[in-house]
Amino acid sequence: MLYKQRDHKWVYLFTEGRTEMKSLLGGKGANVAEMTQAGLPVPPGFTITTEACNAYAQYEQQFPEGMWSQAQTSLAQVESDTNKQFGGQANPLLVSVRSGAAVSMPGMMDTVLNLGLNDETVEGLAKLTQNRRFALDAYRRFISMFGNIVMKVPHEKFSRALERFKTQTASGRDTDLSEEQLDELIAVYKRIVFTDRHGDEFPQDPYEQLRMAIAAVFDSWNTRRAIEYRRIHRIPDDLGTAVNVQAMVFGNMGWDSGTGVAFTRNPSTGEKKVFGEYLLNAQGEDVVAGIRTPNSIHKMAGELPKSYDQLMQITQRLESHYRDMQDIEFTIEQGKLWILQTRTGKRTGAAAVAIAVDMVAEGVIDRETAVLRVEANQLDQLLHPTVDPDADATIVAMGLPASPGAASGRVVLTPDEAVTYSEQGHPVILVRHETSPDDFHGMAAAEAILTARGGMTSHAAVVARGMGTPCIVGAGDIEIGEEKGYFYTHEHKVGRGDWITIDGSTGAVLLGQVETKQPELGEHYQTLMGWADALRQLNVRANADTGHDAAVARNFGAEGIGLCRTEHMFFGEERLAIMREMILATDLASRQAALDKLLPIQRHDFLEIFQAMDGLAVTVRLLDPPLHEFLPNFEELQAELYELKLKTQQVDTFANMDQLLRQIWEKEQLLHRVEQLREANPMLGHRGCRLGLVYPEVTEMQTRAIMEAACEAQAKGINVYPEIMIPLVSVQTELGHQRAVVEQVAEAVLGAYGMKMDYHIGTMIELPRAALTADRIAEHADFFSFGTNDLTQTTFGLSRDDSGRFLSHYVSEKLLTDDPFQVLDQNGVGQLVQLGVERGRQTKPELKVGICGEHGGEPRSIAFCQEVGLNYVSCSPYRVPIARLAAAQAALKL
Ligand code: PEP
Ligand code: MG
Repeated sequence: MLYKQRDHKWVYLFTEGRTEMKSLLGGKGANVAEMTQAGLPVPPGFTITTEACNAYAQYEQQFPEGMWSQAQTSLAQVESDTNKQFGGQANPLLVSVRSGAAVSMPGMMDTVLNLGLNDETVEGLAKLTQNRRFALDAYRRFISMFGNIVMKVPHEKFSRALERFKTQTASGRDTDLSEEQLDELIAVYKRIVFTDRHGDEFPQDPYEQLRMAIAAVFDSWNTRRAIEYRRIHRIPDDLGTAVNVQAMVFGNMGWDSGTGVAFTRNPSTGEKKVFGEYLLNAQGEDVVAGIRTPNSIHKMAGELPKSYDQLMQITQRLESHYRDMQDIEFTIEQGKLWILQTRTGKRTGAAAVAIAVDMVAEGVIDRETAVLRVEANQLDQLLHPTVDPDADATIVAMGLPASPGAASGRVVLTPDEAVTYSEQGHPVILVRHETSPDDFHGMAAAEAILTARGGMTSHAAVVARGMGTPCIVGAGDIEIGEEKGYFYTHEHKVGRGDWITIDGSTGAVLLGQVETKQPELGEHYQTLMGWADALRQLNVRANADTGHDAAVARNFGAEGIGLCRTEHMFFGEERLAIMREMILATDLASRQAALDKLLPIQRHDFLEIFQAMDGLAVTVRLLDPPLHEFLPNFEELQAELYELKLKTQQVDTFANMDQLLRQIWEKEQLLHRVEQLREANPMLGHRGCRLGLVYPEVTEMQTRAIMEAACEAQAKGINVYPEIMIPLVSVQTELGHQRAVVEQVAEAVLGAYGMKMDYHIGTMIELPRAALTADRIAEHADFFSFGTNDLTQTTFGLSRDDSGRFLSHYVSEKLLTDDPFQVLDQNGVGQLVQLGVERGRQTKPELKVGICGEHGGEPRSIAFCQEVGLNYVSCSPYRVPIARLAAAQAALKL
């Protein structure tokens, strides 16, 4: 095996590496090698490979054969390059030992600085720098860092001792510690190590220090925080980390020394101007610890002009070399500039867009590269207010980021409260166990919604996304005491009326009114989206249920509506009452009477949508959810009935008694009907086309409303392309039946208006049987739209409403890489999608096929849709720009 080969190369000098060797040398190692070879001033050093890290993990924490001797040989080369000696007294070489994986994991793994110091070399360093204080300070920093990271002595033990010493100085700062105090502190630190490690001395042999530090960096690959970071950022566990051993340079060797960070462009705005900070007479950790406030990089022009000019030239060189914005770490040692690291700089969504577009204008990259360079999901930050990243905020709970954006408001626990308070002018956040159509008025009144239960396709999530309201669902840590007027977590109790802030982009619930930033859609954004539109093949439509949402979606670039969920039109108190009348009707005549009342309402809504989508297709889906969803909760009704019955004992007049008895009778009727309609598994029950089959008059009314609205719109000169979609079909006969009903009504309406119109009838493919028999189903369909929410639920046999409670466990345990309700399960559900497309097109080669489940707005799922040959994706209005960009990226990667 590879790892057993004695002569296998485990160690590369910086002069031997190349940028393409990133997986072997890690990002840092590869970049440092590249910079070295380009002749930049990089302190010499070497990299131990990621292979060595994996071999070490595989062979019970033993270095692979040959690795240590290669490291020693490389170290000898560094000694000769620097003219210093590792462990030497006269001119000691000190090194830093840093981790560096192929994928950047900032702050996740360990670094040891000043390695090589001991009781003897510290005196050599003192003589050499003629600054014993400096040498002692470096030594005490090294003992605490090594003691903590390598020997696992708790950091607080060192910091407590340091604090004690600092209080003995005049101003309480560590820079005021005298030589004698530092001597004493070093002795104390060594004792701390000795006691904590039950008699292990702090190692004095520099080679032993190095050996232990390398092992500690290898071990840091598998610390909890590193594993957790990889899980969140989907980084494979088997990459391993490289270890970089590099000659130390010191930024704290006086006022002609310093250290800092420079970004070649502004990482918040993208502005083409070097952005950064530095501190004179300091080490990197001082900048991070925030003890002193760093200066803007441009102040250096006055303080260290030569180094400043050189740094500005190097930033330019590095950016043109890598053709992307760089994040550069540097140190100036007694007037000499050293570059320690360069990497692609992290940036906000706005900066990503600006930099990509500017770089095309500058001729650095082409349009395709620019389109690929902006992470599609990052556009979210441009479309919604976001929590100010600099804000100091307490996180109360975390949930699923169901609908992006940030909003602050006062906590309300019921929809009625939400309406009352918001009418009084208070911004409110509705906090619920979960939501149902009954809560809609409160959801509409709220700035944001937070639920303790539910997943990414739960009612709250879908409705909130549709409205563009920030929403967090499934925040499992919170308990809601609605009657008591507060919700609580292990650590916090948040009362009705208290301020909280919701960050729907991350899932964080924050205490108080946290600063948010407003979105901006500038010229850069428009330019990038223009390029994306020219490159993409997939059409992008929106899921929208109102004229307003349709207009928002169109503004974001939607090319039609892919899903109008008509049941959302029945929310709202007045409409819900008529809907209930229709459901409670026991005979056709009274049901028809209720439907007649619903007809003009629906027609009006459709007209608004057709107007907003003038010239574009509008897919309207017929009623889908089980009818009982529109009725009150069974248990609540029982309780209300009980209350009413109790009241009969206190009635004083016959008239009042009459009224009460009537109320009781009505409630009993309602309860009886709710009981009749109640289903053990409503999601697998009497919903979708099954409703239209049993009650064709509902299909008739809806078709009439759509077609009459279309005719009225057409009469006004609007170009309409109605598409009527039959949901939850599993057998072709269902679709055949419903198609006949729709066609008959549609033709009758067109006849009555004396109009001709290009309308289509299609179906959703959202059950496995429908996908498997798509060839037969296509006989009755003009188009297919994959309802991947239901298709995921039925393929996995998971409930889309409740599975959030345990699916997160699956994801954290890596049983699944992603929540399949968020990212399309390409291996399983995806097969059904692919099969459905193929079989559908066997029957009708030109069949138009789209997707309208939540996956239609998710970049990786969109890439899959492109691969299997879909014509369009449809997603909530605020995801339309993301889908446009993701579709372009998918086309480029194909
Ligand atoms: C689906 O099932 O994917 C779908 C879009 O329909 P709904 O979410 O309304 O069930
Ligand atoms: Mg569905």
